[in-house]
Formats: sequence, structure tokens, C-alpha cells
Amino acid sequence: MSSSLQVEVDRFMDGLRSNNPHQPEFQQAVHEVCESVMPLVLDDERFRHAKILERMAEPDRIITFRVCWEDDRGDVHVNRAFRVQFNNSIGPYKGGLRFHPTVNKSVLKFLGFEQVFKNALTGLPMGGAKGGANFDPKGKSDREVMRFCHALMTELHRHIGEDTDIPAGDIGVGAREIGYLFGQYKRCENRFVGTMTGKGLTFGGSLVRKEATGYGTVYFAQHMLARRGDGLHGKNVVISGSGNVAIYAAEKAIELGGKVIALSDSGGFVHDADGVNAEKLAFVKELKEERRGRIREYCDRYPNAKFHAGVAPWGVPCEVALPCATQNELDADAAKTLIGNGVLAVSEGANMPSTAEAVTVFRDNRVLFGPGKAANAGGVAVSGLEQSQNSLRLAWGREEVDQRLQGIMTEIHETCVQHGQDGDHVDYVTGANRAGFVKVAEAMLSYGVM
Ligand code: NDP
Repeated sequence: MSSSLQVEVDRFMDGLRSNNPHQPEFQQAVHEVCESVMPLVLDDERFRHAKILERMAEPDRIITFRVCWEDDRGDVHVNRAFRVQFNNSIGPYKGGLRFHPTVNKSVLKFLGFEQVFKNALTGLPMGGAKGGANFDPKGKSDREVMRFCHALMTELHRHIGEDTDIPAGDIGVGAREIGYLFGQYKRCENRFVGTMTGKGLTFGGSLVRKEATGYGTVYFAQHMLARRGDGLHGKNVVISGSGNVAIYAAEKAIELGGKVIALSDSGGFVHDADGVNAEKLAFVKELKEERRGRIREYCDRYPNAKFHAGVAPWGVPCEVALPCATQNELDADAAKTLIGNGVLAVSEGANMPSTAEAVTVFRDNRVLFGPGKAANAGGVAVSGLEQSQNSLRLAWGREEVDQRLQGIMTEIHETCVQHGQDGDHVDYVTGANRAGFVKVAEAMLSYGVM
């Protein structure tokens, strides 16, 4: 980066840090975008004069509220919940809800900010938002989770709507939670409309929504490899996480001929050198989606696999790495280890799983690196398709939704190439950030100063 560009990035980031102190995740997400788009801002007097970047880095509003609920023993608990409505320039706010003890304003602002760019990349009319609560569903009974979800929606329902803000799932919010949340939404509103996505198939959900983020992440990896005349077939694939995104990334990777050799959760990772096949993956689905068990139990069932407690799986040699757990789970040392072991492609199923330093290592070494806002956009894209089906009062078949998902991931990849190509090489980070920025910025300019 030239020194004058660096001065402008530093000036912008100094202002952002002083306005948003103690929000490291938010600062990290904005910094990456700022570096990518500053040349566009400096080149275009319209963007500079309208303070587009400053406006984009400030959420439209943040709603914070108390969620009070009773556990099975009758003890009362108080949690804090948020909805960050970041930017609705190109469509109603859209983004997931996260239930995890680490949820705070910084985490949800980073996720909401990323969502604005991601949603723009899908080509669908969706603005960006994110929400959640510092509630830990782990170890809670179904009744406790139900009471918490009902209490949360009793407040949230007044801030959302099918043309205003459409939440979905994220970490800790899966099919069970969406059911409880949507049930309470329709009771509070006395209306049955598609204000949430990720719904069950019997009440307005879309086929392939559950699979969409993981499948999309693998489709993106496949596109990056295909540009180099390569593919997933025969590649060793290491995946972090064993939740919604990880499970369906594994499913698609196996289907396309990859050999999935590691999966993880917050307790550690399993290394299965024989590869996870369809039967073993069915066990993981049942373990995680139904029994809510721990990944170490995989080794009780398949004793050839080894469990490594308390560590991430990045030391396992592979050609394809799919970080699908959480933010900042892959640091610079892990990136160097992956490269040393011959990694060719990293496709981020999670949001910002690679630290800023890890991203630099991947980019400097010209690893095919698909940033989350492009590589994991398949989930929100199929959420957009769920909204379309709800509006049309139709349910599309599995094949049709998957075809549309594949078409959208192909388009996102092409858009990244278009905006991030530098000679033979494609910098997917620059491509994703610039393409998302231009689309949202142009809409904001059309509205005048607001
Ligand atoms: P789930 O709750 O289904 O699964 C999360 C997985 O990540 C679990 O295996 C969990 O392990 C692990 N994990 C969570 N926190 C940590 C941590 N601090 N350290 C190590 N492992 C951790 O969530 P999803 O699969 O839905 O989401 C995963 C990622 O994908 C998130 O970054 C999310 O924002 C992103 N994403 C999700 C989309 C979706 O459609 N669901 C869409 C786009 C992005 P444990 O159970 O032990 O906590």
C-alpha cells in the first residue's frame, strides 16, 4: 500500500477507534474493508464528500434489551440481548441471531457490518443486521431454551417485520430455537408472515436452507480451485466446528470427492485419517443436531480416530481448510503451519475465523483465500430465497433451490474475480470488499444525506 493511502487508512481508523473503544472485533472488521476500499473512496469525490465510509461504519441503530426468564428450578435469570440494524440501503435488514456467552456489542457490530457487504454480494435485495444474546443454550433443557426464546421475542417482535428486519439463526440458534422464536413472533403479532428464516419445513421454511452455508462454502472453494484447473476430488479437507455450517460443508466436500479428516468443537478436534464417510457423518448429525453431544464421542464410536483436547485442527496436513466455527479461531501461526503443510485453498464458512495477521499470511503466500463474506454467503442467499417463497406462498423443490444456490455462489465468485483480479492472481478479500462497497455506496448516494 502506498504511504498516502496508508495515511488515509490510519486517519480513518484513528477516528473509528476513538468512537468505538473496547470493540476489537468491530475495529478488525472495519479495518480490513477500509484498506480494500480506500482507493475507491479517494478516487471518487462523491464518496468523499458524502462521507460514505464514515456512514457505512456507523449502524443505523442498536436496540439493547433485558431478557428475563425462569429455569426449571424456578430460579430467575437476566440476560442482555441486542439487535444491530446496520444498513438497509439495498433492502430490509437481514442477519442472524447468536446465542453464546461471548456475545457483546463489539461482536454483533462486526457481524452486522460484515453482513451488509455479504448480503450485497448475493445480488438479492437485503440490508445487513445481526443480533443475539449472552445466553448459553449448552446444558439447558428444551423448556428452558423455550422460555428464553419466548421472553426474547416478546420484546424483539416490535422491532422486526417481513419488510423491516428478518432475523435467522447463527451460533447457538438452530431449528429448535427458530421454532420457539417464530412461534412467539406470530403469537405477539397475530400474523403469519415470513419475518424469520431458517423455519421448519412444515411452517414456511425452505429446502436446502439448513445445508446452504456449508454447501456454499464448498462451492466457493471448488470455484477457486477450478480457476487454477484443479478441484476438490482427492483432496484432504480439514474442517473446524461441528455445528450447522461444518456438518454441511463436510457433506458437500465428501460428495465432491474430498476426504474430510478433521472436525472439532470448543473441546478439541477429532482426526480421522481414514476419512469421514456418509455413515460417520450421519452419526455426527445425530450426535450434534439431536443429542447435542460433544465431538470427542466420535472416537468412542470410531476408535481409529484420535481426539485432541483443547486445540484447533490446523496442524493436520491438508490441501483444503474450511474454518467453520467462530471468529479469530485461526491465527498467523496456524496459517503458517497450514501453508507449510501444503494448503491450497482456505474457504471461510464462519465469519472472520482468520485473524487479520492470518489473512495477511494467506494473501502474501497467494493461497486461494475465500473470505467469509463471500464464501459463506450461501446461507443468507437461501434465506433470501425462503423470503421469496413465503411472499409467493410457494415451496420450491430441493433441486430448484440448490440450483439457485449454485448460481448465486458462481456469481459471487465471478464478482470477486472482477473486482479483485491483479494479473493472473485474484485477491478475493479485495474483490469481495470492493464489490459490496460499491453496490451499497451507490444506493446511499441516491438517497442524499441521511
Ligand atoms: P453452530 O452453533 O451450529 O456451531 C458452531 C460450532 O462452532 C460448534 O461446533 C461450536 O462448538 C464451535 N464453536 C463455537 N464457538 C467456539 C469457540 N469459541 N471455540 C471453538 N469452537 C467454537 O453455529 P453455526 O455452524 O451456525 O455457525 C458457525 C459459524 O458460521 C459462525 O461464525 C457463524 O457466524 C457463521 N455463519 C453461519 C451461518 C448459518 O447459516 N448458520 C451463515 C453464515 C455464517 P461448541 O458446540 O463446543 O460450542
